[in-house]
Amino acid sequence: MKKAAIGVGSNQGDSVRICLEVFNLLRNHPAVSIFRASSLYRTSPVGEQEQDWFINAAVVVQTRLEPLALLELMLDVEKSFGRVRTKKWGPRTLDLDILFYENIQLDLPGLKVPHPLMSERLFVLKPLAEIEPDWVHPVLGLSVYEMLNRLVEFDHQQQIQKLEK
Ligand code: ATP
Ligand code: CA
Ligand code: CA
Repeated sequence: MKKAAIGVGSNQGDSVRICLEVFNLLRNHPAVSIFRASSLYRTSPVGEQEQDWFINAAVVVQTRLEPLALLELMLDVEKSFGRVRTKKWGPRTLDLDILFYENIQLDLPGLKVPHPLMSERLFVLKPLAEIEPDWVHPVLGLSVYEMLNRLVEFDHQQQIQKLEK
């Protein structure tokens, strides 16, 4: 079994319900056993500003799937929640990004691991730091906790609020 971290995001439809359903789906998937899911967070949109706030979370799973098979599962799950790809960084019912896979680095046309923008995204680092603060980025050599501290020092734009359970 291999360990992977996945970022979960939604800003279309009933985003809270969608994220919770994704947790259940992954928890019950035969190829995946979930370790832990973070809290849900409400976050300001990055890139395309003229859209609703997002619900974001992170999950850590143990899986027998290799990276490309895990990506395929993520894309299938997105589709099953009605994701339609429109413009880049536009609204979506569900976005599932592979953040880390063990400590490997991959640079394939359809799969880059660690996720290239994770160190710049509060909506990724804050939820992930809740469940895996000590996971070290294999390229940057910084833990999630360290990346988060660096980011909040120089970025005061991105907003995030933890949702009360
Ligand atoms: P961003 O990658 O900046 O978060 P996005 O999530 O909105 O943008 P998508 O439209 O969801 O981008 O994905 C486009 C493609 O990105 C996917 O079809 C997939 O092949 C590719 N991709 C590359 N690396 C990853 C990764 N680590 N996790 C998920 N998808 C990835
Ligand atoms: Ca994404
Ligand atoms: Ca994505």
